[in-house]
This record gives sequence, C-alpha cells and structure tokens, in this order.
Amino acid sequence: MEADTIFAVASGAGHAAIAVMRISGPASRPALAALCGRVPLPRRASLCRLRDCDGGELDQAMVLWLPGPGSYTGEDSCELFLHGGRAVIDGVADGLVRLGARPAEAGEFTRRAFLNGKMDLTEAEAVHDLVAAETAAQRRQALRQLDGALGTIYRDWADRLRVLLAQQEALIDFPDEDLPPEVEAAVQAELAALQGEVAAHLNDGRRGERLREGLVFAVTGRPNVGKSSLVNALAGRDVAIVAATPGTTRDALETRVVLGGVPVTLVDTAGLRESTDAIEAEGVRRALARAADADLVVVVTEAGEEDNTPPPLAGAGWGEGAEPVLARPPAPSPLPQGEGESHLSTLSAPHLLVANKLDLGRAAPPDSIGVSALTGEGLDTLRARLGEAARSLTESAGPPPLTQARHRAALQEAAARLTDAGTAELPELRAEDLRLALRAIGRITGSVGVEDILDTLFARFCIGK
Ligand code: GDP
Repeated sequence: MEADTIFAVASGAGHAAIAVMRISGPASRPALAALCGRVPLPRRASLCRLRDCDGGELDQAMVLWLPGPGSYTGEDSCELFLHGGRAVIDGVADGLVRLGARPAEAGEFTRRAFLNGKMDLTEAEAVHDLVAAETAAQRRQALRQLDGALGTIYRDWADRLRVLLAQQEALIDFPDEDLPPEVEAAVQAELAALQGEVAAHLNDGRRGERLREGLVFAVTGRPNVGKSSLVNALAGRDVAIVAATPGTTRDALETRVVLGGVPVTLVDTAGLRESTDAIEAEGVRRALARAADADLVVVVTEAGEEDNTPPPLAGAGWGEGAEPVLARPPAPSPLPQGEGESHLSTLSAPHLLVANKLDLGRAAPPDSIGVSALTGEGLDTLRARLGEAARSLTESAGPPPLTQARHRAALQEAAARLTDAGTAELPELRAEDLRLALRAIGRITGSVGVEDILDTLFARFCIGK
C-alpha cells in the first residue's frame, strides 16, 4: 500500500457542468472529514457542503466515500462530483494539498489497482483501451479484456506450466527413480498441447492488435488518377491536395476514417512514379514505406485507360462472400511497365482495385469497383467494400485475440522456451526452460517481474485513470 494520497480530476478537461475529483490513499478519510465536516455513509451518494481549512465555502457537491479494500484502487478512496467551474476545482485541489494529498500522475489510480491486486496487467491495459476506444468494436474488445478474458487464458497456461515444472523438479530431487515411459509421454503431450494453443493464439492474423491500433489502408496508383479526390470523398473533407498537375501530392497524407466500425488511416500516396524531382522522389519513398506496412492496398486506376487491363487475380477472394475484387498477394502491379512496378508488386497486403472517373463514360474493368470521386457514383459500394475488408481483418469469432505487441513478444518467448523444453534431455534443463516460459507468460498478466515496464505502461494513461 502506498503512503501517499493522490487526487485528480477524472472527468475531461474543458468547461463542464460537473467535474469528478478522485482521491485515493490513506488520507482520503481524514481529508473527506475535513472537507465535509463528517464522513458520509460508505458507497452512498451524499450531498455535502465542502469547506476549506479556514471554513471558506468551496462547493455544494455529491460525495462518495469508498473505503478500501472494496474500491477501484483497493485503498480508501472518495469521489467528489463538483460543479465544473475552475474556481471550484482549484479551491478543492488547494484544500486537498493542504490536507496532505498530492496531484496524481498519469495512470496512477490504475497502477495502484494493479499493485494492490485488484486487477492484472491485461485488465489495467484494457482500462486504457476502453478510455481510448473510438468505435463499438474497440469498445467490445476492451470490455472483454477488462472482464479478464485474456488474463484467464494466460493464467491457465501458467498453471499448466507450473504442474509440468513441479514434475520436472521432482525428477531432479529423485534422480534415481526409474521414470515410467508413460510419464514422459504425458509430459510431451502436455507440452505439445500448450505449444499448439500458444501458436494458435499468436497466429491470429493480428486481428486484436489491428482492431486496437486501427488499420492502415494505402491508396496507390499513377499520378492524377484521382487518389486524393477519392480520399477526400471518403473522408468527407478536403484533406489532400487535389491538383490537375501530375505529382502534386508530394507527401503521404493521412486521413482517419471509420470503416465497418474499425478506425482506418487512409494513406494517400504521392504519385508512384520514378521522379527526378527530389521532393517528389522523397514523397514516393515515404508512400511506398507506408504502403509496405499497410493492411490493405487500394489500387486506383482510371476507368477505360488503355493500360488499365486488370491484373489476373493471384489468389482466392478474401472475406466470406467477397467477390474476387480483393486479390491475395502477390498481386501484379497495376502500374504500367517501368513506373514503380518493382515496388508495388512487392506489397504483401491484399489489394482492392478501384477504377475512378466513371463519369467520363468509360467502363470499369469487371473485377474492379467503378467509382467517380467527382459525382459520388459508386462511393457507397466502395465504402461498403472497404468496411467489409476492415471487418474481415479485425473480426475474431473464437477466443479473445491477442491485443498488444507486448503480449505477442512475451508469448513468442514462451513458445521458443516450450520448444526447448520439448527437446531438453535432462530434467534440470527442461525445468529451466519451463521456468523461463512461465516467467514470460507471467510478465503478461504482471504476476512476475514487471517493475521495469510499469512506468512506461502507465505513462500512456490519462491523469485521473
Ligand atoms: P491523384 O494525383 O491521383 O491524387 O489525383 P487527384 O485527386 O489530384 O486528381 C487529379 C485530377 O483528376 C484532378 O483534376 C481531379 O479533379 C480529377 N478527378 C479526380 N477524380 C475524378 C473523377 O471521378 N472524375 C473526373 N472527371 N475527374 C476527376
């Protein structure tokens, strides 16, 4: 338990009717008694006249007294629902400092909740994700994790590893006992089962991480086909420079939209062509780098261009019921020979083909989506197809998916140690491999050695969370 008592306004910045002041730590009770003149009934909303140490009136506020350990942080806490004026908040904050409390740091309430065993690290991370959630799908994923869905999986693996480890340690202690072959077979079977489950969890197409972070769709194609116009039309605002001169979109411009309930950053790439202009060449380089990491490449062409022959599809359609508009990589370059072809053909994300400028009266190739950024024709279909793509990249039907790079790294480490354990010849060595695997998994939930990551992890939080 921390000795400090912390406080922070947990409601947002800016002018609002009510500001929620949170207080946590051993001085919560005396501070509340000093401010209210009494300690209200626990866990009941009470109306109190708040006064400072000199008896000056601060506010008429709703007050909640939340004694530990049954509070969010596990400590004695309270919440004050103040009138949202600056003078009220400042007056109460001053009063709290004089009563021995200090302003909280980012994430400090949740950090205390973790340190006091109220939640594991995956749940603490879910609190952050829930606060940051922009879409319903992100909210659902964060809530599931907050309910302990991920922590339960990792704790189950850790428990099973502990059983295996105990068996190995028994073998070290009694080296002369003859081990019946069925025991070794059972150990191998359990190791293989664990390896399989960890591998399946790792091999989830990064669905959970993608949903949490949002997707990146690169919009590529030759200069002047209307990429910027399309991004603008999809975003509904003028973010990208639209110009009639080829090569004027000099940089990768990013626009955040929500497609299919998933946040997506559209990267409007500069005209992908070999350029002698240094600035433009830099734009091309950046665009290609961004597109190389993209989750989907939207290839824009002009309907009816003579070199517009749609590339043969390189793989199956993708997403249930999807028409073969989405090509699995390696998709052939949509660019004419010599213009950025070598780069584009290496993009590994699925491709969606879009033929723009339908209004000019030329037909779109059959396996592309025909649109006109100018008139808006076909944009609803395009939006729907992009939404479908976004959903199929992030939806997960089965058990909760991995959501963080931190968890992925730990599980990859655990998987490697499990492989070692399977081939280790001495019980001492196998026990050591199992201990390392257990430690890697324990770091995810925070049950072992995580002091070094706590500062970084909680620094991302808001003040007051
Ligand atoms: P980018 O270089 O691919 O980003 O292309 P822009 O969006 O800058 O557009 C190039 C030119 O094509 C501009 O003059 C646009 O007004 C025009 N343009 C874009 N979309 C359409 C369209 O759907 N129909 C027609 N007729 N012109 C378009």
